[in-house]
This record gives sequence, C-alpha cells and structure tokens, in this order.
Amino acid sequence: MGKVTGFMEIARSENPYRDAAARLNDFGALHSPQGAEARRAQASRCMNCGVPFCQSEFGCPLHNLIPEWNDLLYRGREREALERLLMTAPFPEFTGRVCPALCEKACNLEKDALTNRDNELYLIETGFERDWVRPRSPGRRTGRRVAVVGSGPAGLACADLLNRLGHAVSVIERADRAGGLLMYGIPSMKLPKPIVERRIRLMEAEGVRFTLNTEASPEIMDVYDAVVLCGGAKKPRSLKVEGVYAVDYLTAATRAVLSGDEPVITARDRHVVVVGGGDTGNDCVGTALRQGCASVLQLEMMPAPPAERLPGNPWPEWPRTLRTDYGQLEAIHRQGGDPRVYETTVKRRLPGQIETVKLRGFDPISGTEQLLPCDLLLIAAGFVGCEEATAERFGAALNQKGCMMPENGSHRLRDNLFSAGDMRTGQSLVVRALADGRAAALEVDSYLKEDAQ
Ligand SMILES: Cc1cc2nc3c(=O)[nH]c(=O)nc-3n(C[C@H](O)[C@H](O)[C@H](O)COP(=O)(O)OP(=O)(O)OC[C@H]3O[C@@H](n4cnc5c(N)ncnc54)[C@H](O)[C@@H]3O)c2cc1C
Ligand code: SF4
Repeated sequence: MGKVTGFMEIARSENPYRDAAARLNDFGALHSPQGAEARRAQASRCMNCGVPFCQSEFGCPLHNLIPEWNDLLYRGREREALERLLMTAPFPEFTGRVCPALCEKACNLEKDALTNRDNELYLIETGFERDWVRPRSPGRRTGRRVAVVGSGPAGLACADLLNRLGHAVSVIERADRAGGLLMYGIPSMKLPKPIVERRIRLMEAEGVRFTLNTEASPEIMDVYDAVVLCGGAKKPRSLKVEGVYAVDYLTAATRAVLSGDEPVITARDRHVVVVGGGDTGNDCVGTALRQGCASVLQLEMMPAPPAERLPGNPWPEWPRTLRTDYGQLEAIHRQGGDPRVYETTVKRRLPGQIETVKLRGFDPISGTEQLLPCDLLLIAAGFVGCEEATAERFGAALNQKGCMMPENGSHRLRDNLFSAGDMRTGQSLVVRALADGRAAALEVDSYLKEDAQ
C-alpha cells in the first residue's frame, strides 16, 4: 500500500514541461521525464484506499489496477509492476502520454492526486528499455479469422486482444500509416510518431496483419468469420464560414514533421484564428505557434468555465473547471496573453480578416462586431459522428449521435458485424476507445465460440 506516511511527506510532482521557449522550436515531446527515484517516491504516496475511486467508473475506463502497481513500483519491483499494468492496459505508452488521467481526478487526494499517468509511462518505457516488452504470441490458434477496420486505438486494442485469444486478425486501414488519430490527429509533441510505429511493429511480430492504403468493403463479411468496424467519428461540425478543418490541418502538420517537407497547409507568418476553445483547438494553437504563425487566437462560444468546481460537479466527477493547456501556455509565453476569447463567434470572412461577434447564450449581440486579422481560419468546433458512407456500405444503422451503437448497447450490429470505439460511442478519448475495443473483442470471441457450436 505504498509508504504509510508517503502522501504526507512527499508532494505531488509531475514530469515537468520542457521550457516553453525551447519546446516551441521543435515538435519534440512536451515533457522531460523524471527518473526512477522520483517515480518510486511518487508511487509511495498511494494509500490503497478502501474504495479506490481511481479504478472505479469515475476513474480509469480500463480499470487499471492502480494501487497494486503503484505499490510494486514504490518497492522497486518495476517488472512486476509492469506485468500488473499490462493485465488491463494494452498500450500504456499511449495513455501515459495523452490520457487526461481520469483516475487522477477521481483520486481521494484530489488536487494532490497520485501521478498515475507519469508512473504508468515510466513503467512501460522502462520495460521497452530493458527489453521486458517482447512479442507475445498466443500458444494456440483457433483457426477463426477476424477483420478489424481502422487502426486507431479502438482497432488496435480490439486486434491485440483478439490476437491474444488466438484468432487470426487482419487490420484494414485506409491511411498510409497505422494509428488512426494517434498518428494523424494528436500532434507529434504530445505523442511522438516513432512511439506509435514501435507498437505497430510489435503487434506485427505478434501475428497481427496490417493492410494499409485500403478502403474496407462489405465483402469482407463473407471472407472473415467476424468484422469489427473501428472507423472513428471525425466528421467535423461545419460553420457558415469557410475554413480548414482542424484534423486536416493537424494531419498535414504531422506529415510534414515525418517527411521533413513544408506542410501543405501552414501557419507560417499568418494570422491564425481557431474556432473552438477545446482540446483540438488547443492542439491547433500549439502547432500554429511551432510553425511560426504571426499570431493565434482561439474563439469559444461558451462562457469561461469556473476556476473551482461548482456544487453540481462534486468530486470524484471529472472537474468542469478552467484548464490552461500546453498550447495556451505557449501562446501566453509568446504573445503575452491567453489566446482564448469566450462567448464569441465568427460572423463572416473578409480578405485577410474575419468579423467576430459576442454572444449571449447562442444569440449574437448586435453592435459588438469586431474586425480581426485572419489569414488562416481553423475549424475545431467538434465532431458530429462517423461517416455515413461506411455505414451505408455495411448496412449499419446510425443513431441520433451519428454513431453505430445498437439500441441494446452491445457491440454487435448484425450477423458477424460489430463496431467499437468512437464509431460506436462518438468522439471520445484514447483510453475510452481502448476500453471499448477490448470490450468488442470479448464480444466477438463469445460470438465465435457460440458460432462454432
Ligand atoms: C486533434 C485531436 C486530438 C486528440 N487528442 C486526444 C488526447 O490528447 N487524449 C485523448 O485521450 N484523446 C484525444 N483525442 C480523441 C482520440 O484521439 C479519439 O477518441 C480516438 O483516437 C478514437 O479512436 P478510434 O480508434 O475509435 O478512432 P480513430 O482514432 O479515429 O481511428 C479510426 C481509423 O479508421 C480508419 N478508417 C475509417 N473508415 C475506414 C474504412 N472504411 N476503411 C479503412 N479504414 C477506415 C481511419 O483512417 C482511422 O485511421 C483527440 C482527438 C482529436 C481529433
Ligand atoms: S489510462 Fe488514463 S485513467 Fe487509466 S490509469 Fe492511465 S492515466 Fe489513469
């Protein structure tokens, strides 16, 4: 249970950000990792609470065995801690970098919560360094074949578990690289792309087959014993004004980082306005600053969230409070102020400018119009479900959210067709996509067993 007096003696300490001035010069990782001593000390703060909310439905969607691996880490038993972590977490090198750490917001220590995300990252990276993470192939093959469409976190987690259960798994991906939004979406400084490639190579060595540059067609339902659609939900919410969608911009930025070429859409020397004050908008701000934009601004329709939890949003719920993320911190560093402007939207676009207007609720307040310089308008206004074309081709119904979730809440759409991840739930989080991909794999496994009888 960690050190009895650990949390009283040792303060919470996260992996620090690299200095903003330095990190704005490159697309390298945002944080500098702390070493073994710091991570063991941080793990010692875990008190193995009677009710560990970090593992509950308020906390980690994978129900990671957090108190158990923190205790092993505190005792310097890293290899056993990693084994315990890998019992539930398929890819801690992703969640250890990009998870918003729902577990930490649900920790009994509240603002002084454990640093589970950093501890998790330390364990898996130590495992890779010391060669503890090796290809693990199932001892026995079932002879059943499953196709997973889409190689984002849901598809990867689903394929990984099905493969471990002995099925022959093929992942079909339309993009030129595997990873879904892990590859083309989440920027390189949050998740360096060699980390994604490393996992794909490992899965290949374990027997999972990846077919890239390929659009999945419904005929695969006849070829495979089961098909799992994990195509994501990145249909963007459109605006009345014309602009570049955030995921297209971020994809171009990642392609440029990978190839060393100039990005096909660049913010260099341009006045950038991002519509949408959320996490995707923040990624656009951080990327535009790295590309050398002249200025960047983020417009948000809603009012600024409160600094502290409101009574209707108690612990251990996710705190709906104001967060200033890395991109906004970098904009403060570079421009001297928070780039976010609240209760404001864009009314129209003019050459080299936009006209903004303040909002009350969703209504424009006349007389508050303002002209601002804008050479690149990025739309990060949220997502409205998955692609209708894939749903139509596979004969899968879409619900009101534009997603493939059957009314009974299962993963099975019909016959041997299943869905998982954002395509089933709507745009969410990597950790939720991983959990949903694993849940789908278990349902497919049960279906294949019943089908064999
Ligand atoms: C810009 C951005 C930043 C984000 N940052 C974070 C973050 O920091 N932390 C976090 O937890 N979450 C983050 N998210 C959310 C997270 O990335 C998603 O919830 C998660 O990736 C969903 O996983 P998925 O596997 O369901 O779908 P996706 O990752 O969207 O992958 C779907 C894949 O399916 C492929 N595909 C689709 N249709 C077909 C077809 N017909 N044939 C073949 N292939 C097909 C697509 O090419 C894609 O590769 C972010 C999202 C965005 C947009
Ligand atoms: S995956 Fe996320 S929620 Fe789960 S233990 Fe890791 S950081 Fe916490």
